This record gives sequence, C-alpha cells and structure tokens, in this order.
Amino acid sequence: AKSRSHNRYQFYIATIDTEIRQRKKLEMDLHEALEHHELSLVYQPQIDFKTSQMVGAEALLRWKHPEKGLISPEMFIPMAESNLDIIPIGDWVLESACHQLHEWRQNGFSDLRIAVNLSAIQLRDKNIVDRINYLLNKYQIPPQRLEIEVTETCIMEDIELSSEQLNKIKATGITLALDDFGTGYSSLSYLKQFPFDKLKIDKTFVEDLPANKENTVIVEAIIQLGRSFGIEVIAEGVETREQETHLINSGCTEGQGYFYSKPIPEKEFAEFLRAWKNK
Ligand code: C2E
Ligand code: CA
Ligand code: CA
Ligand code: CA
Repeated sequence: AKSRSHNRYQFYIATIDTEIRQRKKLEMDLHEALEHHELSLVYQPQIDFKTSQMVGAEALLRWKHPEKGLISPEMFIPMAESNLDIIPIGDWVLESACHQLHEWRQNGFSDLRIAVNLSAIQLRDKNIVDRINYLLNKYQIPPQRLEIEVTETCIMEDIELSSEQLNKIKATGITLALDDFGTGYSSLSYLKQFPFDKLKIDKTFVEDLPANKENTVIVEAIIQLGRSFGIEVIAEGVETREQETHLINSGCTEGQGYFYSKPIPEKEFAEFLRAWKNK
C-alpha cells in the first residue's frame, strides 16, 4: 500500500511539473506573439437603446497560437500581466484600436466611439497618459471618442495610485468606464471617489434576466445608482430581446451582447456597420 501511494504521489508531482512546463512554454510563446503577428482585435457593437444607433464598439484581444489555435484572453492576459508583457501588448491594443477608429472616421463613421480594456499594470504605468495623448494626436481622435474600461479589481490593488492615474487620464478628455460593475468589493465608494463616466453592468447579472429575481433587483439598483450619480449605464452580455426589453424598462441606456453581434474582426465589422446604418 505504501509503494502505491508513493507512486500516486510521484504521478501527481509529474503532472504538476508538466503543467508548469507547459505554462512556461505558453508564456514564452506569448512573449513572441506580437512579433509573430498572432494577436488581433475583434470588435463588439454597443447599441444606444433610445435611438437604436450603434454608438461604439469594444475592442477585444485575440491570440491565435500557431499550434493550439485560439486561446482565451481570460487565460493569457493574466499571464502577460505576470511578466509585464502586458505593457507592450496593451500598447499595441491601444494603438491598433486608435488606428481602426481613425479608419472608421475617414469612412464617414465619425460618431463612433471605441472602448479599450486597460489592465491594472497599464493603469499604474507612468507613461500611460503621455501614450494616450500621443495616440489621440497621431490618429486625430477627439478624446471623447476613446473610452477606457477598467475593472473594480484593477483599482482595488492600489487605490491611491489608481485614483491619481484615473484623474490624469480623465484630464485628457477621454471617457472612463467601470467594467464588471458589481462583481468586486466596495463598488459604491468607488463611484464617489473616481471620475467614471460610465458603469458596465457585468454579464453575470444580465444572464438570467428577468427570471432571476435577485439579479433583476441588482440590475435595477445599479441603473438607479448610475442615474443618481449622473453616470451612464451600459449592460454587457445582452443575448435576448427579453433581456433588452427589461433593461430598457429599467432605464438602462446602452447594451452590448450576442443579441446584436458577437465580437467580430474588422472586415465583418465594417459590413455590420453599413448594414446597421441602412436598417
Ligand atoms: P470583459 O472586458 O468583461 O469583456 C466581455 C466578455 O464578454 C468578452 O469576452 C466578450 O466576448 C464576452 N461577451 C460579449 N457579449 C456576450 C454575450 O452576449 N454573452 C456572453 N456569454 N459573453 C459575451 P472575451 O473577449 O473572451 O474577453 C474576456 C476578458 O478578457 C475581458 O472581459 C477582459 O477582461 C479581458 N480582455 C479582452 N481583451 C483585452 C485587452 O485588450 N486588454 C485587457 N487588459 N484585457 C482584455
Ligand atoms: Ca471590458
Ligand atoms: Ca465586463
Ligand atoms: Ca469580465
């Protein structure tokens, strides 16, 4: 019996060892992903409930690994954060999004806004404000057309520095959105403390609207909260007309989700834009 448990133990160690090695390998692959042109952005439309117009898009990062195929950002972003690769990758995301917006604007879609996710590491980067100003200038983007999304967890890691940085970013004139709202802690105090223009209701609350009574109450409370602070509220993860109707009736102003479109590559998005405009 003793040797059997010993074997099992060795097996366990070997498994962990393989996992660590595979993770290291993936991390090294990610380190070269930019250079190898394996990263791309997809865009998901954001719809204004009042006018039914497409008012913007969220840019979401994709990594196509040469052997493993698509890898989820939920998996590789934490990896890039752990070794600071998120700085060059995040820079690339910001620049690509600004470049894309510039192109849309030149094609006559000058009212569109683009939203970019910012990691905690990027938020604390001393160069981030200069970088944003540089890109706005380079791509001739009116600041209010660029939106930065940060999560509650991102801010929580260093409240003082986050506050300082967010105020500097806000001073550039771009829009600030608080992502995944309601999933972290002390949401309420953040709203008072930080210069957010917009709240994004997390998709876990939208998922089972209106059947789930708790989520219905939470969503209504978030929308009321946004209203009383004079902050826009957008819902993510809208998948059905029922959810949309419920959100509109609760006073939510914008939506994003599979009901309108999945996140799609630039080419498809351009077609979607034209089709939506002529609807
Ligand atoms: P997020 O910012 O909360 O993005 C929303 C996620 O919900 C996206 O997953 C999107 O594809 C997905 N989604 C959109 N509509 C629906 C829907 O109707 N139903 C469902 N079930 N899901 C929907 P994705 O693209 O896999 O991204 C996951 C997370 O990775 C993002 O969550 C964000 O935290 C992170 N991420 C993605 N791109 C970037 C980036 O460029 N920079 C940073 N720092 N993080 C990023
Ligand atoms: Ca987001
Ligand atoms: Ca979110
Ligand atoms: Ca999320």
